[in-house]
Amino acid sequence: MTGSPCLFRVEMSVPPKALSGTWQTHELTFVPANNRRIWYSLAGVDVEAAPGSYRLELQANLPDGSVLREQRTVLVTRAKFPTEALRVPQRYVEPDPETRVRIEADQQLKHAAFAHQAPVEWSGNFRPPIESSVSEGFGTRRTFNGKLASIHRGLDYHAAPGTPVTAANSGEVVLARELFYEGNCVIVDHGQGFATIYMHLSQLEVNEGQRLEKGQELGLSGATGRATGPHLHVAVRWQGAYLDPAKLWALRLPELPEASVSPVKAAR
Ligand SMILES: [Zn+2]
Repeated sequence: MTGSPCLFRVEMSVPPKALSGTWQTHELTFVPANNRRIWYSLAGVDVEAAPGSYRLELQANLPDGSVLREQRTVLVTRAKFPTEALRVPQRYVEPDPETRVRIEADQQLKHAAFAHQAPVEWSGNFRPPIESSVSEGFGTRRTFNGKLASIHRGLDYHAAPGTPVTAANSGEVVLARELFYEGNCVIVDHGQGFATIYMHLSQLEVNEGQRLEKGQELGLSGATGRATGPHLHVAVRWQGAYLDPAKLWALRLPELPEASVSPVKAAR
């Protein structure tokens, strides 16, 4: 379904030396379970992807040097999202030249953060980063002050300022700083191109380059940046695709052995 994460699980009768694949325009990296006969790749479908049939191509490098190729067709259905009109201060809709320079600089910072490739750090289920209820779901089509239509690429939680926010899974902090729209923002790289993003924080409690355990506190919620009030906005990004965080929390994921936590190849 569009905007949904998914787990590709491949079972082989002979443990391969390596397993890779392609899905839509993405390169997949797989990590093995303990017995190396089952391999996993956490992936997804962008919220704006067109529904339809897509090819999943797999390539296994076998111990005898041969290469095994397989193809599957996967049907992607359209998820339904609501529409909403919002009002925010005008400077967030029509930024002045000085602000546009800042937004451009923010883009470069985020680009660098997302280009980072952590080893596979996630293991087991992701979990919600805050103990609270959802105030706005993922995928809502929004207008700000009657224009600038955008899609809500994350999940909003009710959060009184100062509520602890924790890492949804283990990973590496690749950005922890104040940005114009996002306010105080933390981006955690979980490996396989998966990142979780935490916005509008009142306080940052981690540094760039720091390793986080699942559930470790990374900051306090707030209302910094383009926020209509205090809340936590959480986003899930996979290789440039934005996915529904609620669906990621609900996805049952395997515990990965420590041995599989090795750097993934840099080629993309
Ligand atoms: Zn939001």
